[in-house]
Formats: sequence, structure tokens, C-alpha cells
Amino acid sequence: MTESYEVLAVRYATRQTDAASVYLNFHMYQQVHNEPLVMDYFFWVVRNSRRTIVVDTGFTPEVGEPRGRVMTVPVPDGLARVGVDPETVDTVVITHGHYDHTGNVNLFPNARVVMSSRELDFWSGPIARREIFAHAVEPGDITYLRQVEEAGRLQRMAGVIDVAPGVTAVEVGGHTPGELIVLVDGEGGEVLLASDAVHYYDEVDLDRPFLMVHDLERMYQAFDVISGLAKREGIAYVAGHDPLVLERFTAIEAGDPGFGVRIR
Ligand SMILES: [Zn+2]
Repeated sequence: MTESYEVLAVRYATRQTDAASVYLNFHMYQQVHNEPLVMDYFFWVVRNSRRTIVVDTGFTPEVGEPRGRVMTVPVPDGLARVGVDPETVDTVVITHGHYDHTGNVNLFPNARVVMSSRELDFWSGPIARREIFAHAVEPGDITYLRQVEEAGRLQRMAGVIDVAPGVTAVEVGGHTPGELIVLVDGEGGEVLLASDAVHYYDEVDLDRPFLMVHDLERMYQAFDVISGLAKREGIAYVAGHDPLVLERFTAIEAGDPGFGVRIR
């Protein structure tokens, strides 16, 4: 029997940036002027009466603040505000190895952690130490994920897997070697959590790749996969860092609409 889920996007941090700092080779778009942009940081909760799945785990203030990121709610507090006790979380999905998705895994001592095999190997390997790759990860987080694996709680995946009934992880790569997107049978309709396969909706809508890229061919292929999925009747499509997410869906807390949204 299939299951359906409530899906939440909780914003835990933000920063001010601009288009030239987020799009690859922005100078090539000669008719397009640079403009200020907000980049928001989210984690996602997928739950029903049987199970709770957390998709990505944010960063800690110790990691985010030196990078100039402004915490809007520390991840443990954000979890508490939506009623998630991390000790009872069944599954954590790590969509990719970047620092803003891999912190706080230690909060979930009883969870199975699902991650792309290729992703974990890449960030443990020598090319990941080259500067352009290295600045996007926290080595301590990758070491911690390896320790979770040694403890027998990490499930490596490749391709497409069912994380739980009604929750599917799809490895698309592009942004990173094993970038995942997550499809959920939400209460009242499908949900596509694009994570950083799509930071901003404009990446797909205007066919404008993000600046940080492992494999541009696969990034474009991921855009095609996602734009195909986004056309499905009734699907709710959630970009990874776009402030529009807070506008397109319903506030979890009416008194603090910036805290996060209920997707389904
Ligand atoms: Zn990210």
C-alpha cells in the first residue's frame, strides 16, 4: 500500500547576493543586467503518521556565519518548531555533499542516512580537495558521514530508489556528481523537491546554469528531467534556494511567514 505525506520547507538561513554571483558565465547573457538576489537556505520535512524523513540537514552557525550566511533559525530550533524530535527521525536523505546540506547529521542518531554512493566517494577523494570544489564542503561533515557509514547507518544509492513507500530519490548529478532530487506522494498531490539541481526557478525557466557545477552536460539534462516533471498535472515543484518558495506555498506559521511553508 502506498503512503502520502505532509511536506514542509523550513528556511534556516539567508544571504544577499546578485545574479552575476549565482549564474555560470553570467557575462555571456549580454542583454541581461546584474541584479540583487536573495538566496534562502532550506531543509525539508516529509512525514506521516508512520514515519518522518528529513531531506538535508543545513549547516550550524559555526559553519554558516564565517561564510557570511545569516541564520534565521538554527536547525535544531527549526525542527522543534515543526514538532520533529530528531531522535525519532527514521530517515535522513542527503541530496548532495555541500556544506549547506550536510551539517547537523549528529542530531539524528537513530536515522538511516541515504546518499548517492558516487557523491560520498567524490567528496572523500582527491579532486574534492582542489580549491573550487573544496570551498563548498565541510571536511568534518564528510568525515562524519563516513563514520555513519562505518556504524552501518548509511545507505548508498545510485540511480533511482524508493526511500520509503511514496518517497523516491532520483540521482541526477550535474551540480555535484550525485546530486539527488526527491519525489514525494504528498497529501493532495505530488511534490518535487529539486534541492540544488535547481537553486532558482530561473535556472530551468531561462535555461541558465548555476555557477557551481560538476558536469554541465548532466546539469542541462537534469533541467530537462525537472522541466518534464514540473509539467505534471498538480505537481508542487520546490527549488532549493529560491525565496519564491516562501511566496508560492502556504506559511507554516501565519505570524512568521519567513519561517517556512507547507508544500502539501
Ligand atoms: Zn545548497
